[in-house]
Amino acid sequence: MSQQIRRTKIVATIGPASESPEVLDKLVVAGVNVVRLNFSHGTAEEHQLRAKNVRAAAKKNGVYVGILADMQGPKIRIGKYKTGKTFLDVGQKYIIDGALDLNDGDDERVGLTYKELISDVEPGARLLLNDGLIVMDVDQVIGQEIHCIVMVGGVLSNNKGINRAGGGLSAAALTDKDKEDIKTACAIGVDYIAISFPRHGEDMKYARSLVEAEGSDAGLVAKVERAEAVLDHNLKSIMEESDVVMVARGDLGVEIGDAAVPPVQKKMLRMAPKFNCPVIVATQMMESMCENPIPTRAEVNDCANAVLDGADAVMLSGESAAGKYPVQAVEAMHRTCVETEKQKVLPSTQTRDPRFPPISVDECIAHQAMEVARSMPIKAIAAFTHSGNTVLYMSRHLGEVPIYALTTETRTLGRVTLFRNVIPLRMPVSYNKDEAPQATLDMKKKLLDENLADKGDLVIMTFGTPMGESGGTNAMKIINIA
Ligand code: PGA
Ligand code: MN
Repeated sequence: MSQQIRRTKIVATIGPASESPEVLDKLVVAGVNVVRLNFSHGTAEEHQLRAKNVRAAAKKNGVYVGILADMQGPKIRIGKYKTGKTFLDVGQKYIIDGALDLNDGDDERVGLTYKELISDVEPGARLLLNDGLIVMDVDQVIGQEIHCIVMVGGVLSNNKGINRAGGGLSAAALTDKDKEDIKTACAIGVDYIAISFPRHGEDMKYARSLVEAEGSDAGLVAKVERAEAVLDHNLKSIMEESDVVMVARGDLGVEIGDAAVPPVQKKMLRMAPKFNCPVIVATQMMESMCENPIPTRAEVNDCANAVLDGADAVMLSGESAAGKYPVQAVEAMHRTCVETEKQKVLPSTQTRDPRFPPISVDECIAHQAMEVARSMPIKAIAAFTHSGNTVLYMSRHLGEVPIYALTTETRTLGRVTLFRNVIPLRMPVSYNKDEAPQATLDMKKKLLDENLADKGDLVIMTFGTPMGESGGTNAMKIINIA
């Protein structure tokens, strides 16, 4: 499958344009590695059905597709309009009214979903609505009313989001709705749960406690999309407490300004290996494909640069959820990644930064395997892994040799779908302590059967010995697929 010749992973959001079994099948064939269920829209039943259909499409095509449940988070929104919308002129006054019924918006005022916004703003604060398309400055706050002057006008319609420029909102990362949705996601058995608008590592720790209380070990993705979250100490604590981080460029761009996003993306991609934290680059990557069957040159460049900077995954949002060309958007990402990956990576980014020494035996073996793979004609790395940790460490190197995660664990097969250059392979049985020779034979057969290696190829096998005892990977062998 195409999944094996591309190292960078593709995450695609599922929505009305892509939820049918027919389109899901095409997305999987086109190479989607992880599907994102957006909990900002839809009911628990709809998410359950989508997950079921995704799993069926993956099974049909003989691949593993991870499922990521994305929580809505404290997205602040205006209420609805009696007429659906209003038109705002530059310089006019407008009131965001915490006391107004959520359905009663008109040309003078509109309701607000998050009443606390009133105590978070002061005269001079700048509010950005509808992803920054409408800008208002706060003139005064009177009781429950935020009196604004429109700085950038246009049409404002029902339920549009509000951000405050520069951040500084008090909203906690997890809302009551998120807490319910986490239960739904855990019941579905998703591989990852994305937390929206975390401020710091503590928010992720709290999210983890909620997930664990459901008896789930789903991985946690921190969506970095708040001004506070990109401060050095907060970003560091977020990477420490999360399994994956997302450069959530949509809300982030509204909060810190569009021009500040590229350096933050680069900084996150530079920092993340130190924390063994995979990175998803998200939002507007192929935006014009909501309407057009081909991307712009700038979009292709953006995607290619994320690949060159070592992103684990690139993501589609509206393009695959609600756009006109969901399958073509995946194909465009696929060919962009494949072509970019043909470039010899720069020597400076080829290895994991030596300033980040391994801290455990399995990490040390993982690094040494990558070192050997660079210096010999190695066809593949076959890593026997229970948790997936070994392949996570391996994939932090921007190596070119494919890393196969051999495991009996369904959880691990799902977890590694996001890791750059890691391909999940299910093994039917686990091994007892003196069964390394049997594991070696089975591994050879598996690679040959799946056409992943030929007779005479050299493969690096990593495993824990004695086998079947927990304690992790501590051995590496170079094996001739004879
Ligand atoms: P969203 O998050 O699509 O859920 O808003 C991603 C982003 O803000 O970029
Ligand atoms: Mn967002």
